[in-house]
Amino acid sequence: MNSKIWVSPPHMTGEELEYVQNSLSENWVSSVGPDINKFEDAIQDYLNSTDEVIALNSGTSAIHLALIQIGVTQGDEVICQSFTFSASANPILYLGAKPIFIDSESDTWNLCPILLEEAIKDRISKGKKPKAIIAVHLYGMPYKITEIHHIAKKYKIPIIEDAAEALGSEYKNKKCGTFGDFGILSFNGNKIITTSAGGALICKSKDIKNNTIHLATQAKEDAPHYQHTKIGYNYRISNILSSIGLAQMKVIHNRVASRRNNYNFYTKNLKANLTISFLKEPKDFFSNRWMTTILTKSYKDREQLRLTLEKNNIESKPLWKPLHLQPVFLEYPSYVNGISENLFNTGLCLPSGSNLTKNNLKRITISINKHYED
Ligand SMILES: *Cc1c(COP(=O)(O)O)cnc(C)c1O
Repeated sequence: MNSKIWVSPPHMTGEELEYVQNSLSENWVSSVGPDINKFEDAIQDYLNSTDEVIALNSGTSAIHLALIQIGVTQGDEVICQSFTFSASANPILYLGAKPIFIDSESDTWNLCPILLEEAIKDRISKGKKPKAIIAVHLYGMPYKITEIHHIAKKYKIPIIEDAAEALGSEYKNKKCGTFGDFGILSFNGNKIITTSAGGALICKSKDIKNNTIHLATQAKEDAPHYQHTKIGYNYRISNILSSIGLAQMKVIHNRVASRRNNYNFYTKNLKANLTISFLKEPKDFFSNRWMTTILTKSYKDREQLRLTLEKNNIESKPLWKPLHLQPVFLEYPSYVNGISENLFNTGLCLPSGSNLTKNNLKRITISINKHYED
């Protein structure tokens, strides 16, 4: 049997051990230590921005702390892209707020500007202006930043940019994560770089950074005893995980290049006469191609292909199930056009790891070409 090919496994450089060993030998093992700041600096440098970066224990924590600092509380409404991973929306519920789901457009598969404005107007007419918008660069493809931010500005609603899948993606040569009032990154095991588990919040000022660190470290006040006037969270990254992150950030350029090479390999080597289609980059959009995604003809076509790949020991994954169709979110308002539902029914993520070998890629494309010939 051929060895298993995964959709997006972790990819270590080999240098992580040295960084971790250093931290261990200096006893920097917890939520303080020099590698946390170094990791944050490395991300900030890479983003090529004056935005501040706070390393946290997950991307989900970063969204939670962004919502808190925007002032979202019980009963508020927060707009969220429907076509995304549940973690984009879960923190809205942690706060007792109400998610309002918006469908996608077909150029980037992200927030549809037309539905977004329609929803904002409708929510205002019902008596509640949404407190925030969570927009996602899904699979690394930037959302329609100009259009979405124009609407957000018009109605004065802050944007949380969920760039969990989009480290390295750009719009008009500016890195994703730096456009919103807040940006979030994830370093979970399946993302383009990983710290095993981890994330970051990107924000616009030192004050917000300091406040984020305060909230993420149990909101301890400045006193000799434990003194609290606010609810705190245990969301800071550890120095050990930051050590892994430092080694990973050194190769982020290569990781983006490898993922983009995967996409190019698939588009070149999957037979042109197949009914499969790919998500193209519109002008000014640069995707890190975290995932190479394809659309098939139908649900049945998609499932047959997925099962053929599974038989060949190749993992592939249906696209995210839209949140407005998830049992846990069914009761919340949604503004839909059918696009994300159709993407979910017919779409598939192909293996996209930066550690795929040429032979892996050949094995996958041969399997797919053969599947459609048989
Ligand atoms: C992975 C992911 C998150 C959550 O990140 P974690 O670090 O796993 O908490 C949020 N949004 C999207 C779109 C993601 O893919």
